[in-house]
Amino acid sequence: MCIFCKIVAGEIPANRVLENDEFLAFHDISPKAPVHVLIIPKHHIENFQSVSGDLMAKMTPFIQEVAKKLSLDRTGYRLITNNGEDGGQEVMHLHFHMLGGAKLLWPHLAPEKEAKKFV
Ligand code: 5GP
Ligand code: ZN
Repeated sequence: MCIFCKIVAGEIPANRVLENDEFLAFHDISPKAPVHVLIIPKHHIENFQSVSGDLMAKMTPFIQEVAKKLSLDRTGYRLITNNGEDGGQEVMHLHFHMLGGAKLLWPHLAPEKEAKKFV
């Protein structure tokens, strides 16, 4: 069982923000912003590339509800999903990072020699 499946099952504690039958939001153990929450489907899905459109259609209003609960709907937030090796995905259970509580930076994310390919 993966680490996020263990959180869903209650085998690993987490600071829960919101949940329903299908989705769970909880605070990241190593926050990268004043507010850093992870939003996951309770059912194990590897990543965004393998999620169905039907599940995402249900997940979207849940994500919006999490933003409201944290009052980020008014101030703004960033939503990120790391997908696969180049995306930097470390936990292979689909999750969206919701980051907020400050004006976030927009740093270069690739090494400079790689980034130049896109200029
Ligand atoms: P990824 O790099 O896969 O997109 O992000 C994984 C995230 O999960 C990281 O931000 C990391 O801090 C978080 N994380 C890893 N293990 C745990 C845990 O046991 N509990 C919580 N709450 N977050 C975790
Ligand atoms: Zn899992």
